[in-house]
Amino acid sequence: MRKKLVVANWKMHGNLALNQQLLSAYLAQLSTLNEVDVVVCVPYPYLYQAQQILQNTSIAWGAQNISKAEVGAFTGEVSAAMLNDFGASYVIIGHSERATAYCESDENIATKFIQAQKHGITPILCVGETLIEREAGVMQMVVAKQLDTIINTYGASVFAKAVVSYEPIWAIGTGLAASGEQAQSMHEFIRNKIAEQDIEAAQSLKILYGGSVNPQNAVQLLAMQDIDGGLIGKCSLSAKDFVEICFAAAQSNATAQLIKF
Ligand code: PEP
Repeated sequence: MRKKLVVANWKMHGNLALNQQLLSAYLAQLSTLNEVDVVVCVPYPYLYQAQQILQNTSIAWGAQNISKAEVGAFTGEVSAAMLNDFGASYVIIGHSERATAYCESDENIATKFIQAQKHGITPILCVGETLIEREAGVMQMVVAKQLDTIINTYGASVFAKAVVSYEPIWAIGTGLAASGEQAQSMHEFIRNKIAEQDIEAAQSLKILYGGSVNPQNAVQLLAMQDIDGGLIGKCSLSAKDFVEICFAAAQSNATAQLIKF
């Protein structure tokens, strides 16, 4: 069984004092929760702070974007190697808030994905459709295209050491989460798509759901067969909510075990 993974996406929130409080509160309650992997993706300037507080604990840390380039004259960019300097082990790639605001192409996102892996950092690839695309019934086509750029360029095997986060754009920050069935259906589609080319990669791939996950809906969402965890925006800024979501992930593992045996 795939171990559940819960990732906090702090976006552009925080400061030194607040981060210290939040991370300490996470640690106080999550350090004995062995059934779930927990990651915090912080803004770049706080990577050093995250490293200082989280090293040698059960919580890993990462960033929210990287450059597609290795090194060079790219003002304002941050490379995968630089993330390594601060012990980051995950990076969010292609989040819709970036893809829309900074016009990121699927090709750019694919290059960033591989660049992260080249440096031993696990990419968390965000995919998902807009409300118009869902209402038009083309959501699977949209997500397939987002995956295809990577599959066609690098092969499906690269998903063996990656995380995909299904984030319907209409659900992000809106308070309107996908239902368990809507999310499960897309997660199954994603896993089957990878499996068409590489069954082992599809089986080890963790597929997270992101979009208005909260302590109330987490249990139902995370209990779905192909939902391996969550990418949590707003609720990761409250230690109480985030911890409850992590415990819901652990509970859904236990529920799945009960069903299995
Ligand atoms: C996100 O931005 O990745 C996200 C899932 O945000 P929220 O939980 O606030 O919808």
